[in-house]
Amino acid sequence: CGIVGILGSGPAAPLLVDALKRLEYRGYDSAGVATLEGGHLTRRRAEGKLRNLEERLAAQPLSGRSGIGHTRWATHGAPTERNAHPHATDRVALVHNGIIENFRELRTELEQGGTVFSTDTDTEVIAQLVSRNLEAGMAPADAVKATLDRLEGAFALAILFDGEDDLMIGARRGSPLAIGFSDGEIYFGSDAIALAPFTDRVSYLQDGDWAILTRAGATIYDADGAVVERPVTRALVTS
Ligand code: GLU
Repeated sequence: CGIVGILGSGPAAPLLVDALKRLEYRGYDSAGVATLEGGHLTRRRAEGKLRNLEERLAAQPLSGRSGIGHTRWATHGAPTERNAHPHATDRVALVHNGIIENFRELRTELEQGGTVFSTDTDTEVIAQLVSRNLEAGMAPADAVKATLDRLEGAFALAILFDGEDDLMIGARRGSPLAIGFSDGEIYFGSDAIALAPFTDRVSYLQDGDWAILTRAGATIYDADGAVVERPVTRALVTS
């Protein structure tokens, strides 16, 4: 339902929660964040209101400066902590808005290959596919592209990789996703309101685009795989 991602210069978790609060008006049933702690993906998730996630973070703080966050409106799988985003393997963590229409076929195929699923969501197939591609030796961008080619349905995605503190990949098909720019930091948000606390310099991905982010900037590809420029606009929304 709501997506935010940060490659930042200070602890990401409090900023992620702040951004998610701005998306609360959309409604949600659970929430979560993942950050890279000492290079390794670490998650905190909670059912219900963002207050519950904040309590969890207060008890077990995260200090990583790269992170993703999500407020979920469940479509597949009950609104439990187990099914809350980010979904993760030991290689990737990702947040997803939308619905993967062919998730049952993909899940069956992965299970036949020995993958053990830990949630009831449509989203987890994306994490497992990217992970399998990485295990096969693909670089992160190739692993994501090969995964996007298999997905049917509507999605916005933000993905972090274990051991990669300066990399975040996102994609949009049917659901909105924007990139926010500021000096030495870069962000994903499902809308400009989520990015308002950080920056008013925003690029909206077009349908079918996917993007590779580092703190130095973004490389955006269109659905045909061509590198494209999307205009950076001054968002009208401010904090
Ligand atoms: N289909 C996904 C799920 O049920 C994402 C829902 C959303 O957009 O929040 O977990």
